[in-house]
Amino acid sequence: MSPSITRRPTVTAWVGGVPIGGGHPIVVQSMTNTDTADAEATAIQVAQLARAGSEIVRVTVNTREAAAAIPEIVARLAEVGLEVPIVGDFHYNGHILLREFPETARLLAKYRINPGNVGAGQHHDANFATMIEVAKEFGKPVRIGVNWGSLDQSVLARLMDRNALLATPRSGTNVMIDAMVTSALESAQYAERLGLPHDRIIISVKVSSAPELWQVYRQLAAECDYPLHLGLTEAGMGMKGMVASSVALSPLLLDGIGDTIRVSLTPEPGASRKLEVEVAQQILQSMNLRSFLPQVTSCPGCGRTTSQFFQELAQRIEGYIRESMPVWKTRYPGVEEMQVAVMGCIVNGPGESKHANIGISLPGTGEDPRAPVYQDGKLLTTLKGPRIVEDFQELLERYVEQTYGEKAGVS
Ligand code: SF4
Repeated sequence: MSPSITRRPTVTAWVGGVPIGGGHPIVVQSMTNTDTADAEATAIQVAQLARAGSEIVRVTVNTREAAAAIPEIVARLAEVGLEVPIVGDFHYNGHILLREFPETARLLAKYRINPGNVGAGQHHDANFATMIEVAKEFGKPVRIGVNWGSLDQSVLARLMDRNALLATPRSGTNVMIDAMVTSALESAQYAERLGLPHDRIIISVKVSSAPELWQVYRQLAAECDYPLHLGLTEAGMGMKGMVASSVALSPLLLDGIGDTIRVSLTPEPGASRKLEVEVAQQILQSMNLRSFLPQVTSCPGCGRTTSQFFQELAQRIEGYIRESMPVWKTRYPGVEEMQVAVMGCIVNGPGESKHANIGISLPGTGEDPRAPVYQDGKLLTTLKGPRIVEDFQELLERYVEQTYGEKAGVS
């Protein structure tokens, strides 16, 4: 935990065995993009996300077929030893599906309810109430998840009318932000009046612009003590989505706001869904809020760097660490805190290497073809020859065994 970040006080909501809020570690979650009715494909993707580090996985439950598939999905995950909590994302027909499929209602760890999508007019409150009744019956938490694209229009109209009567009306954006916060909090209060305990409610209000997200969540944080699910909706693809999510989430996390996060990336065609989990982890780790895997510090390279060899080494070491983590994290507790340095020259590289647990400095252009390796601040050895990468990986593996295996009693 970073000493400069004080988390906002909240109640704790339990999602399956995972605590959200109350000062517990900020939880990484994700969402599948398979057809939930395809139980096999969905279970495979949930397993991929969970193995990548997603501590909660949400699936859409939009049809009877999707609702009927939940028990098989949970059973398939149990067969491979995964007990990751599955959250059901409901819209419009959630009140029907949760009643028609009680086994699904029992197996889901949380229900996501969007108050803008539970039906309009006289049906709105009745449909919402049915979902809350099911949550009470099965002892489940809910996430009241407001989204700017599907904001409850009756709340917006009410606040717009009130705004029009002001001597100096507020901007449309400000009224919309107020309406989103109001929709979330009024829905939560209604759920409590229906008998849902205060500590079974998580709130999210997602927008697609970082400055608006900051405004929305600061307002929410000031007005309630529910745990907050933080995320920028429709963040986009690739680099744009990663940067936008990092920029949007970081200032709020720095203020102690946010108890669980999701990074909503649009995957490249055919690409793995895991990237959204890795980005979420990296945001938290970069802020010293959590540690998930050893960090590789590599210099950007400059005119001193020898061709592509340095970049390839940095990439191979990163990949090696990521591939090793499933085994390392069970055998070597604390390994996720390790710092590895991969530097591009031996003029400036050793300084950084000395600050890492283990670090290598490659020979730069015109330098002696030798690569000094520092371990815990001291020169361990100097590698040379064509097997520098393999030799460094062996040293890394040995360091992990000796340092973190001893702590765990592994010899
Ligand atoms: S460590 Fe060396 S190669 Fe890397 S950026 Fe600095 S001077 Fe350049």
